[in-house]
Amino acid sequence: MTDLSRRNILVGAAASAAALGAAVTAKAASFGNPDRPLEGRINASGPNAQSDPGPQNPNLANEFPSFQDPPATDVNGMPIFWSSFNNAHKRFQSGGWAREVTQDDFAISEDISGVNMRLSAGGVRELHWHQQAEWAVMVDGKCRITTIDEEGRPQVADVKQGDIWYFPPGLPHSLQGLGPSGAEFVLAFDNGRASEFNTLMLTDWIAHTPPDILAANFGVPAEAFKDIPLDNLWIYQGADPGPLAAAQNATKSSKGAPRHPFIFSMSDLPPTKQTKGGMVQIADSRNFKASATIAAALVTIRPGGLRELHWHPNADEWQYYIKGRARMTVFNTGPRAQTADFRAGDVGYVKKSFGHYVQNVGDTDLVFLEIFKSDHFAEVSLSEWLAHTPPKLVMEHLNLSADVLAQFPGDRPDIMPL
Ligand code: MN
Ligand code: MN
Repeated sequence: MTDLSRRNILVGAAASAAALGAAVTAKAASFGNPDRPLEGRINASGPNAQSDPGPQNPNLANEFPSFQDPPATDVNGMPIFWSSFNNAHKRFQSGGWAREVTQDDFAISEDISGVNMRLSAGGVRELHWHQQAEWAVMVDGKCRITTIDEEGRPQVADVKQGDIWYFPPGLPHSLQGLGPSGAEFVLAFDNGRASEFNTLMLTDWIAHTPPDILAANFGVPAEAFKDIPLDNLWIYQGADPGPLAAAQNATKSSKGAPRHPFIFSMSDLPPTKQTKGGMVQIADSRNFKASATIAAALVTIRPGGLRELHWHPNADEWQYYIKGRARMTVFNTGPRAQTADFRAGDVGYVKKSFGHYVQNVGDTDLVFLEIFKSDHFAEVSLSEWLAHTPPKLVMEHLNLSADVLAQFPGDRPDIMPL
């Protein structure tokens, strides 16, 4: 069988007889795979080979059209790269709640773990620290952060929706929801094993230090500590913290302020790349100087738009979907290719240098974050690479004409213009 006849057969199986023709070839679900049988529905020929009469929960199943009906180009599977806060267990306390997606339940996410937290107005995530760096984006409301660096320079600041913060590993901090509606945010730790339920907390340490040591350490009588909480507070309902200026004044140090602020306004950032298909805003240590171990890209894709085929040579990508509906295919060695669907509150993960694209399959803007454990954002674009490789070489590889190759975008668009 020639390649061409095989191709025609595969296309024919996918299309109704009436639709056959040149136009069908262009829209073919697959050009066929000479090495393996296809894995999509296109491969099913038995009378019941496509049906699914067994027990199912349609509400859940229908959220995953690409798992129910994978593209014919998917092959061989790979470790799951879809997870979500939507089905993560919420831990409630008086001042709010938190839930997380860590490597414990999302094996692929080696470099980043994620936390989704809500603080009521006045709700406090208690003073604490941890071995990992903490990057966060505000998704709703307002929040007050407090911290101090290793040179003894404090920062107290208020953050609003679209702002981000970064606390370097080991620096202590607190978070408090502000009026009128409190705060909700998503944290990314630069270690997949990190957990919000396992941090070093002020109340725990004080309760587990002998009273005479507390007295000697703080230079006050041991009796002064008689009312300390004996269980940690984690998230508690606090009082309104008052005006920011007063808090900043009360925390002033003769050592001054940290060299670089630990907060940054990501949503106000001019687009790093913009096309008619959408835009990318990048915050990494080149503009958000404090963010030494996390780089982030906020991606907006218009309906029908495509985040181009690309990969990241420097780090795994952890994704947080904020708005809209996405479909992503990840390409791995093997070859392996798998497609998954994402909605608001979902999490995606792509290992370093694995190829991928993200498509807006909804009818509203798609907005998501790409987070990398790196001091800088880096990307290789497939079309830019091919446009800047000797044409003859590319033409030999893909059996393309010089005309077609000349139309490939040569200047990494990031989001293909519609
Ligand atoms: Mn923290
Ligand atoms: Mn990417």
